[in-house]
Parts: sequence; C-alpha cells; structure tokens
Amino acid sequence: MAEHESLEYGKADFVLLDNVSLEEFMANLKLRFEKGRIYSYIGEVVVSVNPYRAMNIYGRDTIEQYKGRELYERPPHLFAIADAAYKAMKRRNKDTCIVISGESGAGKTEASKYIMQYIAAITNPSQRAEVERVKNMLLKSNCVLEAFGNAKTNRNDNSSRFGKYMDINFDFKGDPIGGHISNYLLEKLVKGAPDAQLRALHIQRDPTAYTYIKVGGQIKSSINDSADFKAVTDAMKVIGFTAEEIQTVYKILATILHLGNLKFGSDGDVTLIENSKLVSVLGDLLSTKDENVEKALLYRTVATGRDVIDKQHTHQEASYGRDALAKAIYERLFCWIVGRINDIIEVKNYDARVHGKNTVIGVLDIYGFEIFQNNSFVVFVYSWKQIDYFNNQIIVDLVEQQHKGIFAVLDEACMNVGKVTDEMFLQALNGKLAKHAHYTSRKLSPTDKNLEFDRDFRIRHYAGDVVYSVVGFIDKNKDTLFQDFKRLLYNSSNPVLKAMWPEGKLSITEVTKRPLTAATLFKNSMISLVENLASKEPYYVRCIKPNDVKSPLLFEHERCKHQVEYLGLLENVRVRRAGFANRQTYPRFLQRYKMISEFTWPNHDLSSDKEAVKRLLQGCGFEHDVAYGKTKVFIRTPRTIFSLEEQRAEMV
Ligand code: ADP
Ligand code: MG
Repeated sequence: MAEHESLEYGKADFVLLDNVSLEEFMANLKLRFEKGRIYSYIGEVVVSVNPYRAMNIYGRDTIEQYKGRELYERPPHLFAIADAAYKAMKRRNKDTCIVISGESGAGKTEASKYIMQYIAAITNPSQRAEVERVKNMLLKSNCVLEAFGNAKTNRNDNSSRFGKYMDINFDFKGDPIGGHISNYLLEKLVKGAPDAQLRALHIQRDPTAYTYIKVGGQIKSSINDSADFKAVTDAMKVIGFTAEEIQTVYKILATILHLGNLKFGSDGDVTLIENSKLVSVLGDLLSTKDENVEKALLYRTVATGRDVIDKQHTHQEASYGRDALAKAIYERLFCWIVGRINDIIEVKNYDARVHGKNTVIGVLDIYGFEIFQNNSFVVFVYSWKQIDYFNNQIIVDLVEQQHKGIFAVLDEACMNVGKVTDEMFLQALNGKLAKHAHYTSRKLSPTDKNLEFDRDFRIRHYAGDVVYSVVGFIDKNKDTLFQDFKRLLYNSSNPVLKAMWPEGKLSITEVTKRPLTAATLFKNSMISLVENLASKEPYYVRCIKPNDVKSPLLFEHERCKHQVEYLGLLENVRVRRAGFANRQTYPRFLQRYKMISEFTWPNHDLSSDKEAVKRLLQGCGFEHDVAYGKTKVFIRTPRTIFSLEEQRAEMV
C-alpha cells in the first residue's frame, strides 16, 4: 500500500477495507474524492473518479516519481499502471493492454491520453528520430480522431462517439516504433432523434471550416473555436494527409450539414425536394452531377426479374434515405481517416531477426454506456458487452447464439424489411427464449413490476438485471444504405471520395448479397477486439463519474453507487482479497517473526505493532509484496512467507 499516504485520505487500496461492504466502499471512495485523491487501487486495478477540475498531478516531476517504480511505492496513479504495463512489456517481453472502462463522461479518454503521454515521456529516444516521430504521430492522431469522433452531448462536452483501441509497438529496447488504431464502433446508431448526431456535429465544427472551403457560398455555421480547427488541420498535415485529402474531408463535413437541411415535399404522388438549391451545392461538394444527386435522393433502382426500374421513394423513404446517407458518409469518413493514420503509423519492415521481438502495449478506451431509464437498442448492444462479454458465457450465448440468440432473431426479423414490427420481433424472442433462465419479458412474467411496458424484456446481466424496450430495435438494426447512394459516391470525380466507396462499383444486378446489419457488424468487431485483448496481459482502469453536472465538489452517492455496482468493483475487491496468500494480525505476525529483525527483537519500541511490522518487512526487502490493513498485514505471494519462514528457521 502507498505507505506515505496517511489514513486521513482514506484507504489507498480498497483491498484494505476492514469490511468489504458497499457502504464501506462508498465511504472510502467519497472520502478520497473529497480529499482530492482521485485515484485508488483495488490491488492492481486503478479506480478513478473524475475530478472535473485541473489536477496538478500529471507534470514532468510526477512522471519522474513513477518511472521504474513498483505499483505500491507511490500513491495510486494512472502513471503507476502505465509503468507496470511498460515494465511487463520491456522486462518480460509481454504484450499488454490497458482496458479503461466506465460510463460516458467518467474520464476514460482523458485517462488514455495521460497514459499515452506517460509512455511517450518515459521511453528513451535513442539516436533515431523515428522514435520521436512515432510518439508525435500517436498524439497527433489522437487529436484528429477526437475532432471527428467526438461530439458535445449534454453529458460530456467531448464525448467519444467511437470505441478506440490503440496499439503502440515497441522494439526490443522498449522504444516505440509504430502503432495501430482500431475504431470498432463509431456510434451511427444515434439515440433519440435521428438528426441528433448531425446537430452534435454542427457544434463540433469550426465556422472557418465552411468559409474556408467556400463551397456554395452560403454556408452558415454556429461554430466558434477556430484554434481547434487549426490544430486539427495542422495535425492532419503533420500526419501526412495531402491537401486534396484535407479538402475532401471538409467537403464531406459540409455535405453532411447540408443534407441535414434538405427538405422533402410532395406534389400529388410525386416526391420532391423543396429546397432544390441545395442539390447543386451537394453536387458541387461531391463532385458529381446535380441530376445524379437528385435521382439518388428521390429514387431507388430495383431489379425485377430482368428489368431494372427506378422506383420513386415515398416522402418518408426519402427522409430515411437522407439521414442514412449522412450517417454513412460520416462513418465512412471516420474509418477512412483511421485507415490513413494507420497507413502512416504502422510498423513497416520490422525484421525480428535484426531488431528482436516487437511487443505491444494496447490502450482500450471502451465506449461509455449511458444509463437510461428506458434502454433501447444502442444501450442494449453496448451494455451487454460492457460487462458480460468478458466474463459471462451464458449471456454471450443468449445474445449471440446462432438461430436463437437475440442478434440472430433480430437479423432474421430485419430480412423482412417493412413487414416485421418491433412487437413481432419481441414475440419471436419470447418464442425462442421463453425457457432461458436469463431472459424474461412482460408477456412471460406479467406480474413483474420492473417490466412496466408491454414491449419490455429483461436480461439478467452479471452486474444486475437490465430491462430493455424493443421500441426502435428493428429500425436501427436495418440502418443500411441504399445501393444508389453508394453508386453516387463511387461515381464522383473526386478520387478521394471515390476511393472511400469501392462497393459502389457494383451494378444493380450484381448486388445480391444483403449488407450485414448493424448488430452483426457490431458483433464481428467485438469478437475481433476480444480475441485481440485475450492475447495480452491486461491492466484495468475503472472510471467513475461523480455527478451529472460536471462539478468538482459533488459526490452524488446514488449515482456513484450505481456505477460501483455496475462495474462490479466490490467483486473485484473480494477476488483480490482472496488472492492474498496470507493475512495475519500485527501482534500475531510479530510473535512469529520478530526474531528476524533487530528492531523487533526481543521487543520493539515503535509506536505500534503495525509500525514494527513495517520496519521488519522493509528490512527484509518485502515492502512491495505486502499491504498494511488496519489490524492485519496482507502478504501477496507465498514466496514471501517461505522466505520469512526460512529466516526464522535460521534464527531459532
Ligand atoms: P469519457 O471518455 O469517459 O466519456 P472524458 O475522458 O472525455 O470522458 O472526460 C470528460 C470530461 O471530464 C473531460 O473533458 C474533462 O473535462 C473532465 N476530466 C476527465 N478526467 C479528468 C482528469 N483526470 N482531470 C481533469 N478533468 C478531467
Ligand atoms: Mg471518451
């Protein structure tokens, strides 16, 4: 335990609580937060509470204090865990990953930045300028990804709309030589109104983005932070984006904003675009003919037998298509940016025979789930994974099983676009899962008070029951893009844009395969993520958001308690405690081992038995393998006990 921290600040390690109860856990967490101790441990897990104020604990001097030290030598800190991961990588040649989880606004992205910063600071830039380059690239690409991947929501000014996994590759000397970024779930399934993300995007964008590109000459924007805009543009340049690419990026962003303003009307049976001026703005931005834009927005090409016909969208279909297009363009842009960054930062020509084993530290900033009264598809997909994917096979089966998992039923329902309603989907779930111990619904358990509405179903998660509503499941899942839009974008004369949409090359008669649904895509990306993580030695950071008003002073007890439960922290403590090889009261420990040390034999004159035990263990060099509780000393590994016993045997 961090021994220089007095108990005035609570227990630095939750393992040392006198009683492992939720009350004690919460009291300690609150005390530490109020005393400005935002980090604590559960063994080697860092628990972090968002301070919502600038903390003077990330500077060069602090970095020096953690460099090369053991976890327990210093007060709990992200730097300690970053150093542990780095040491494991360097000394033991292990691939490691740091998994950062917690709900939206809890401080995950900040934490991942501090960790990267620490790793960048402690690695030793030898002669090669390459090292500096890679460090800069990783930090710069973070800046670009944030600008495009984040949005201001009412919960978080800089909420990540994508899950981010960053690998840093090191050579055998421990110097970074490259990196790789995976974005595994950009939120295209926006909760609430379909244009919510567009509005959010609007907020993110800088006005100079539009006056700067001056396309259409009528771009209005409410964005105001030109410094950010410049930083992003500069970062893109540094990373190696060409001027044409950067230009295209901004054109795409402008396209999205304009799409948002597009209004459809009808004249009798004919669907039309009300503000048709926008069509030529879009044609311009997308480097394609205005007619093509209009046609893709109003018609879809369908193959009926041997004939290919243009079928007019209804008003509603056209609006749906427009929103789907905006989301898809944005998502594709983001993936493309990630791909370009990877092209540049990935390790090339690494010859293990010359350079030794190439090891990796991964940093996973796991998507923040938000806790809503009425959970829907988005929350469902994120939260079941958050807790359960890693440690609960029953739930995984429930969700994933072929033919009768929730995803399978959902995908099947979506095959019959337009015919299957949310209610029918729920019926199908009830039919297939009625006997599953972890599934129930209002229909199956009519008297259950937690299932308030007819459309609710419930999954028994590891961390507790979660009730979901099927409302909107079908619609969000089948959020696929009309083939006509893909062809429109592929046929652009802008080569950058064209390259983003290779599947637009297919003609209508070639397109037979149904595109994968959102749930399937999500599942696939989760599987590869989990496989990747499973091959690495994990370190954990659990982030807690103390309140919903971004206050540095407020510790909302119920909100925090919910997160502690959801993150399974108490279970963590129990598991860690069980993991100690040995624990003994101080007097008992002294009784057995006091002959080992001159300070304790035959009697000590220190202020307490606890101090005496510390003195004794320091003398033996076991400081890092023990923790000091109020009444007991905890010993981590059996090796220490054996050694104490040996020394004792020599004395007696
Ligand atoms: P998440 O990624 O979990 O959604 P963020 O990391 O973006 O959350 O944090 C949300 C906000 O909280 C940040 O923009 C910042 O204002 C504040 N914050 C988070 N961590 C810290 C920290 N360690 N020190 C100061 N402020 C922080
Ligand atoms: Mg984030």
